[in-house]
Amino acid sequence: MSKNKSSESVKVVVRCRPLNRKEESNGPAGGIIQMDVRLGQVILRNPRAPVSEPQKTFTFDAVYDANSKQRDLYDESVRPLIDSVLAGINGTIFAYGQTGTGKTYTMQGAWMDPEKRGVIPNAFDHIFTHISRSQSDKQYLVRASYLEIYLEEVRDLLDPNHGNARALELRESPESGVYVRDLTSCVCKSIKEIEEVMNMGNQARAVGATDMNEHSSRSHALFLITVECSQPGPDGRKHIRVGRLNLVDLAGSERQAKTGVQGERLKEAAKINLSLSALGNVISALADGRSSHVPYRDSKLTRLLQDSLGGNAKTVMVATLGPASQHYDETLTTLRYANRAKNIQNQPRVNEDPKDALLREFQREIARLRAQLNHRKWRSKQKKEQVDGEGWEQDGDEETEGEEEEGVEKEAEEYVKLEEQRLEMETEAIRGDQFMLAEEKQKLLGEKERMMGDLRKEQEATEQLTAKYKAMESKLLVGGKNIIDHTNEQQKMLEMKRHEIAEQSRSEREIQQQVLVQDEETLELRETFTSLQQEVEAKTKKLKKYLKLYAKLQCIKAEIKDVNDEHVRSRQELEQTQNELTRELKFKYLIIENFIPPEEKNKIMNRLTFDPEEDQWKFQPLVPAESKSSQMKKRPTSAVGYKRPISQYARVAIAMGAHSRYRAENIMFLELDMTPPNTASLAVAEPNQSHSLDNSPTKDRGVRKSRSWCQTPKSITSSSSNVSLAACHTATPMAAQ
Ligand code: ADP
Ligand code: MG
Repeated sequence: MSKNKSSESVKVVVRCRPLNRKEESNGPAGGIIQMDVRLGQVILRNPRAPVSEPQKTFTFDAVYDANSKQRDLYDESVRPLIDSVLAGINGTIFAYGQTGTGKTYTMQGAWMDPEKRGVIPNAFDHIFTHISRSQSDKQYLVRASYLEIYLEEVRDLLDPNHGNARALELRESPESGVYVRDLTSCVCKSIKEIEEVMNMGNQARAVGATDMNEHSSRSHALFLITVECSQPGPDGRKHIRVGRLNLVDLAGSERQAKTGVQGERLKEAAKINLSLSALGNVISALADGRSSHVPYRDSKLTRLLQDSLGGNAKTVMVATLGPASQHYDETLTTLRYANRAKNIQNQPRVNEDPKDALLREFQREIARLRAQLNHRKWRSKQKKEQVDGEGWEQDGDEETEGEEEEGVEKEAEEYVKLEEQRLEMETEAIRGDQFMLAEEKQKLLGEKERMMGDLRKEQEATEQLTAKYKAMESKLLVGGKNIIDHTNEQQKMLEMKRHEIAEQSRSEREIQQQVLVQDEETLELRETFTSLQQEVEAKTKKLKKYLKLYAKLQCIKAEIKDVNDEHVRSRQELEQTQNELTRELKFKYLIIENFIPPEEKNKIMNRLTFDPEEDQWKFQPLVPAESKSSQMKKRPTSAVGYKRPISQYARVAIAMGAHSRYRAENIMFLELDMTPPNTASLAVAEPNQSHSLDNSPTKDRGVRKSRSWCQTPKSITSSSSNVSLAACHTATPMAAQ
């Protein structure tokens, strides 16, 4: 199954959007970001720092400034990835950045304007154009799914009743890795169809949200495309390759304010960025290379992207930035995040002949339907020949397979027509026959009608089968056939040239970056000098180098300070969140310990189990699943000799006859209790009383019954609550019982 088992790093590109009108009118002109597109560098200026402080420089695989076009980003950074997906390698593109920096613009863009179409519509175009231009021995099956993760719940955006649908579960299989169970997947035959799928999902997303902006900035949207391609291999057998493409528009990376909120809002705030902070931790663990544990399981997003980060996939990360000075901190965080992601190594490979390929199933089903259909048609044809009284071999010998099939189809149709005509004629003849008995006539007519009905049924069944076969077959796209490619040769050439240019500028940038690194290294080697002049030059160069190094050191020092500050800040935030959660927990404990009877609490606790898959506590069913059908407890069988089941006590009572000790069961004493109620003495005298109860069972039992309602509930409740509270303070909930 595996080929090309080489490792390659995650490709990271950075894009900065233009200043918007509001920012232009507010801040100093120009923003805080400079980009060197040729070198792939971003230079960030701290607006609060003195001018002498060195600026921060980051280098990436590519950078796109405010003037960059959607097409440039696609051709240079995305196209190679989609090509790999079409060759059966998994691919992921995710957009990361603060809200409002252009993640959705980069991923989707403005659909109507060809210049502003984003990565997703361009990828649709790319995939279907590739299929239409590929050779005709290739068959393709393209499927699309669309989901979002909001508050750690996975929701299917293509589910017709998305609003009420329950959250989906994640599952893992050795064959296809982590996947979403019961996720809708639509087979798409054209660009138009896949665009419709996307629009449907976008609408579902907008309808489900009370505030679209708020919702979209806090949820992750994943559009998944699976491309399966079948092609005959050198061994003559058809081989299937499957490439999965994840197009991810992440939630806004800005820090969510968690402080000051309580209850549901607090839990919500804690969950919102859980996936993003888990993503950060996964990236750190992978980039570090030393940590043996990568916390993929900490969130839904990281589990779904498990293969894309450090696994079997090619990945491109687009980090988006805003140029405004007020977002300096967030911009710096994004750049650091992106810088770390560069070090992740993936091991992409071609997925060949996986067991779960849907294309294989489709091919089998189509072959089965075709065989069924052919069988029917041959049968009809043969019947016709019997009617005609001639052998079909006479004219079938030299026909090719296709022609033969067409001939069979025509003859089958003709047979049905002829048979219909024959039956009608015969019916007419019977009707017109005056010598036949009425009874016999009726019988023959009935028989003809039945034959006619059978013929029609047969015809209908064939038509249905044909329709099913055609529908199934149309889902498979055949190279160079299904889609009419309107592009003329000139346009194709133009496209090719554009790709070449993109390829060239990419390799140029790589070379420039390498030259920069080498320059620094080789400076030292050129130390042999012959004259004083040369020596001066060399020493000056060396001095410059040291100055450079010193500047670098300063940069790193500043970096360390920044990172420390950030850690302190996030630790403080975590502590605050923890305090608030502890407070909430104490509150819940107080309620449980004081207002829920201990036995109820125990019952509930015994029934609860933790489901790590869904990260939730769940109730075990009261009745085990296997005995659900017989919910009633079975009545115990009666002891030998008795009609009904009977207790031990009753059996002894029967044996003892009229013994007074066994008489009390069904007797109620109704005399009035004349002693005045005395609550204080009762509470104290209780133990003694129970003692005396044993001595005079019948009478005292009556007294106790009548007294029981006199007990002041107040004193009992307050004392028990005191005990519980004390128990709560010692933090052992079980001790309260
Ligand atoms: P996000 O999805 O990150 O929250 P959006 O994609 O919604 O951000 O972008 C916010 C605004 O900025 C939109 O109006 C969008 O049109 C505009 N925008 C973003 N990136 C660019 C760009 N590269 N060029 C022009 N406009 C952009
Ligand atoms: Mg967005």
